[in-house]
Amino acid sequence: MRVIVQHIPPETSVDPSGSFSKGSGEIGVELLCVVKAVLKKIKRRVLVGDKVLVGSIDWVDRRGAIENVFQRKTEILDPPVANVDHLLVLFSMDQPKIEPFSLTRFLVEAESTGIPLTLALNKSELVSQEEIKAWKSRLRSWAYEPIFCSVDSKRGLDTLQFIMREQTSVIVGPSGVGKSSLINALRGNKHILGAVKEQNSFDPILGSKWYEEQRVGEVSVRSGRGKHTTRHVSLLPLPDGGYLADTPGFNQPSLLKVTKNSLAHHFPEIRKVLKDSEPAKCAFNNCLHLGEPGCLIKDDWERYPYYLQLLDEIKIREEFQ
Ligand code: GDP
Repeated sequence: MRVIVQHIPPETSVDPSGSFSKGSGEIGVELLCVVKAVLKKIKRRVLVGDKVLVGSIDWVDRRGAIENVFQRKTEILDPPVANVDHLLVLFSMDQPKIEPFSLTRFLVEAESTGIPLTLALNKSELVSQEEIKAWKSRLRSWAYEPIFCSVDSKRGLDTLQFIMREQTSVIVGPSGVGKSSLINALRGNKHILGAVKEQNSFDPILGSKWYEEQRVGEVSVRSGRGKHTTRHVSLLPLPDGGYLADTPGFNQPSLLKVTKNSLAHHFPEIRKVLKDSEPAKCAFNNCLHLGEPGCLIKDDWERYPYYLQLLDEIKIREEFQ
């Protein structure tokens, strides 16, 4: 897998084989790395986005060996990426039109990670202002504040670039909505913000070794869906700092982390009703909001039928698990 060098300890010494000396490496250089057997033995998987320690570096051939993986801040499984700070759920206003149930599935999946998310609607130049207004107020009733963007007209791209600066973001959404086009646009849209890139601070505990602190840049994963299907995940640096994961092929939310009891918490409009009702609570701790006595959630909100549909799907899955 490929690793981008992010930090080189200042008091780096010569390695046992003598092939590495202070100053011979560079921040931003890409190294092709193997994973040391010791990590494989303890089944420590290396994901895209992981911060890792690399040793046995050959700067001439740009090779090294991953010796350890730093603790992850976050981990998402579909696509498999570590240390994601932000999820961008991308749909399009037209070609294809927003499909509210599909959007709900993506939003529930994104909410279930606990990672902050932004909802953006691309191809906004294809529809009228009235349609945009109508969707804005509809999505506000779902407790989301969408960003209307267009890769073609560049609308909203500076806002998205601002949100993504200095963060690791993943774009999720169905195929055809413009994910690849947006990734290309954001990567080519240089220095609108003129942000300064910061280097990682040096870890004094690890500094006594000649290790480097680095980030995994690319890995291939087998999808397990069909023979020889390989889905490729890579982390691309953004011009104003931060990274954007390119995850083609991951466009079906599995909802595997969502349980029947957690589902309601992934609808912000339900969260809001429950919060506004505090200290009152539903009479039953495990209330599924299906009209149980003493339930605080009524059936008068737009996405209630979607909630019921997803609940059925999850119940069936849980029964067969
Ligand atoms: P992905 O499958 O989500 O990665 O979508 P792509 O980036 O491959 O885009 C699908 C199609 O939509 C391509 O033909 C793009 O040129 C087109 N597209 C992307 N963004 C826009 C946009 O803002 N407006 C319009 N009209 N078309 C767009």
